[in-house]
Amino acid sequence: MATSPNLDTPFVRFIWKAFAQDLKLYLVGKTVYLSLGSNLGDRVANLEAAIDRLRAIGEVVRVSSFYETEPVEFTAQPWFLNCVVKLETDKTPKQLLAAIVRIEREMGRRRTQKKGPRLIDLDILLFGTSVIKSQGLTVPHPAMHERRFVLEPLAEIAPAVRHPVLEHTARELWEALPAGQGVRKLKVEKNH
Ligand code: AMP
Repeated sequence: MATSPNLDTPFVRFIWKAFAQDLKLYLVGKTVYLSLGSNLGDRVANLEAAIDRLRAIGEVVRVSSFYETEPVEFTAQPWFLNCVVKLETDKTPKQLLAAIVRIEREMGRRRTQKKGPRLIDLDILLFGTSVIKSQGLTVPHPAMHERRFVLEPLAEIAPAVRHPVLEHTARELWEALPAGQGVRKLKVEKNH
């Protein structure tokens, strides 16, 4: 007599959960926060160009001011220009990561020195309330709560958004930062 397959194994439950999560994200759409940075060439133009390209991935709902920021980790390089973008998208996290890596590549970013100067850098800070730890993608971004160049623009456009692991708002995380890390709002008008 043929036995029916066992559908209640950890592996089947894992596959089903992953499928259900992707389906839900696909149907519902998500609010995502991205960090953008540039410290090579025309930094304003680079951020503007990346924001324009993001419009093909979803709806750009808000863009923070642009901030001039002191480099962290590898400090012997020019100051960055950073901003945060709020995006509504029906992409899955994996699709979104692939899309931002493509934007970096198409804009001419070359991966030479790790943490070194870059024409454009895009990072996923928050993806709805999802917590993701997969190969090649960690969300919330693992360093976001330590970086003034991320938290200051994020707190500007979304002070009440909550870090799903630390359970603090963007404003609370920003206020808790130690002094240091030069960040100043750029005075010039943006074009978007
Ligand atoms: P970098 O350009 O130095 O910021 O590194 C980009 C790489 O970091 C990507 O190719 C991803 O595989 C990986 N990564 C892990 N988590 C994230 C995230 N939250 N946002 C963007 N890239 C991430």
